[in-house]
Amino acid sequence: MGAILKRSKSLLVLWDSSYTSRLWCMFEIAAFLHGKGPSADAQRHLVACPVFVGPTLLLGHLGLSILLLAFEFSQLPMIPWGTIIICGLCFPCFTALAYVVLEHCRSIDVVQNQVRYFTIEQSLCYCCSCGHTDPLTREPMICDRSILIRCISSWFGSAEQFETLVRHHVMTTLVHQLANNVFSYWRILQAISPLFWLFLDFWIGPIARDFVPVDIVIAAVIFCMMLIPGIVLILLRLSYKFRNLAAGVRQQLMLSVGLVSIGMLLFATLMAADRASAALSWHLCGDRTPGYATLLILSGILSVLLWRCLPLIDAQNI
Ligand SMILES: [Zn+2]
Repeated sequence: MGAILKRSKSLLVLWDSSYTSRLWCMFEIAAFLHGKGPSADAQRHLVACPVFVGPTLLLGHLGLSILLLAFEFSQLPMIPWGTIIICGLCFPCFTALAYVVLEHCRSIDVVQNQVRYFTIEQSLCYCCSCGHTDPLTREPMICDRSILIRCISSWFGSAEQFETLVRHHVMTTLVHQLANNVFSYWRILQAISPLFWLFLDFWIGPIARDFVPVDIVIAAVIFCMMLIPGIVLILLRLSYKFRNLAAGVRQQLMLSVGLVSIGMLLFATLMAADRASAALSWHLCGDRTPGYATLLILSGILSVLLWRCLPLIDAQNI
């Protein structure tokens, strides 16, 4: 196991709330980071992904695909009925998603407190929890904890040095990953990818008539790659900021509704700006493309500023 950890370039942590209470898990992650050395960029080597992200992305993807397919078959115009119906149907789904994200934000506080006071003695081992007797065969089991303590002394110098490493280096690396990298730009893009298919459908008609719809291509780039990920990033930061604002389930649902409302309001404002710039461009030049091109440049600058300049959530300040 030591050789595998030493030679591995990266470690994927499929994280849940019980992860930091298990001695084996903390040993693996500490051994991996220790093997990379103190000068290595830990954030580049370690990737933490909560287990709820997979099913959430899958369900979100499926739901959005079905919704857009239904919209396509209904043949409703995109403005205003298509947008109103899509936003109306998405609202309950987004509220549930916001609720899950708020839960995730609160769970980071729990993890930080668990790891900050980590001790080998209080961490869990399966063998110790079942009294060193196999529950099926009733045969005695070897204690993993005593084996790990010997290994820890050999690899880390002493149990105290191991615990110090876990409480500082492992804690900051894990919390940074869970706070900043779970909903990365590329993961948001994956989640909204069905929107690209909708735009692809808009492209097909003009392309069949030997006409390249430049304005639709620019609109797809603006909304799918810049504005929607930007709105999601703002909502994620707001979720962290207000994660402890509501105590009960009802208050948390209200908070989720509030967050989704802010997102919808931002989206509606940007849609209105998009329509206004296209109309102005048509009025001045008889072509909508210059308006979309201007919006593309402004959206690009705004996106770069958001993703590059918005401060990351600092594990020490959570
Ligand atoms: Zn044991």
